[in-house]
Amino acid sequence: MTEEKATSAAVSASTQKLLHDNVSHFFSEFAKKYESHMSCRAGCSCCCYTDLTVFVSEAAEILRWFFSQTDVVKKELVENWKQSKKAGPDAAGNLQKPCVFLANNRCTIYEARPTICRSQGLPLLFRETNLKTKETILHVDYCPLNFVEQDSLPPRAEWLDLDRLNTLQSLASQQPCPVFSELKDFRLHELCNKDRRVSLRRLSDELAKRADIT
Ligand code: SF4
Ligand code: SF4
Repeated sequence: MTEEKATSAAVSASTQKLLHDNVSHFFSEFAKKYESHMSCRAGCSCCCYTDLTVFVSEAAEILRWFFSQTDVVKKELVENWKQSKKAGPDAAGNLQKPCVFLANNRCTIYEARPTICRSQGLPLLFRETNLKTKETILHVDYCPLNFVEQDSLPPRAEWLDLDRLNTLQSLASQQPCPVFSELKDFRLHELCNKDRRVSLRRLSDELAKRADIT
């Protein structure tokens, strides 16, 4: 599947789930092709040493997934999220606190993980415009653990267009936000910061406080 197909299919359906599925599919096809140049695997978690904020629709997907779990699983998850976790090196070797959802080098919300987590490890294309000259410069960003051999980076046509992905993600987040009866009087929008994004840490705190998991 090409990068364009991966993202254009998501526009028409306009659902967060479809966008997630498309990005994951794109990643797995890409990783199959470039396996020998990529270190991405279960248990490699340096890219999870970060404190993410996500779109409201992504936070809603996490809640939807969480409330579909059994009470035992929900309780285990919340207990885990409440534990304080040690800082560790990110992929660039800088010491960072881990994502609240990381445990034993695994993502505890893997099926509902945000879009950005599904694209980690891919070459990501983004643009920067020089305000003076108005010239647009293309950049590529990728995990320093991947494509370490000289000239191993795939050609530009294979990179994931981060700007386009962000646009699709914004569209997906414009869908009406579902109300979760399990969270009583709480509304997800209340967690948004000024950029209308939700901190994963705050989301986990609210779940621990409000979800009925006794
Ligand atoms: S993006 Fe980097 S740190 Fe994350 S799983 Fe892949 S190789 Fe590991
Ligand atoms: S949500 Fe999961 S995959 Fe994303 S940073 Fe957190 S632990 Fe890693």
